Amino acid sequence: MPNIEEKARERFTNFTPYEMKKGEEYMSEDMLEHFRQLLLKWKQELMEEVDRTMHHMQEDAANYADPSDRATQEEEFSLELRTRDRERKLIKKIDQTIDRIDKDDYGFCDQCGVEIGTRRLEARPTATLCIDCKTLAEIRERQTGI
Ligand SMILES: [Zn+2]
Repeated sequence: MPNIEEKARERFTNFTPYEMKKGEEYMSEDMLEHFRQLLLKWKQELMEEVDRTMHHMQEDAANYADPSDRATQEEEFSLELRTRDRERKLIKKIDQTIDRIDKDDYGFCDQCGVEIGTRRLEARPTATLCIDCKTLAEIRERQTGI
């Protein structure tokens, strides 16, 4: 079995980068639509992945009689379940992000209000902080140990 951890799609890469037209405003309707589509496709992919695994686990569950096989299998399953759990959380975050696009509240830093930027958003469509605020938040997290 390939490394299960690596299968979690923490980012979405299957898209064409957005080309800003001349004089186009940041987070124009076209741009918002671009990110909506990107998020929808990503969500779709994640949901198919979750479905596939659940199905695969149900099929496999009955096929192991040997206790040592079962132990290995249980380990694989619990790893798999953790991955699914992460994916489900990610799907929830994607939904929340789409919601913000609908409310025209997307692409600006929650902390300082600057443009997060299309390239950063394409790498991380669910980002709510600009790179500076994000870096700062991460440093604080490490310091407080949360
Ligand atoms: Zn910021």
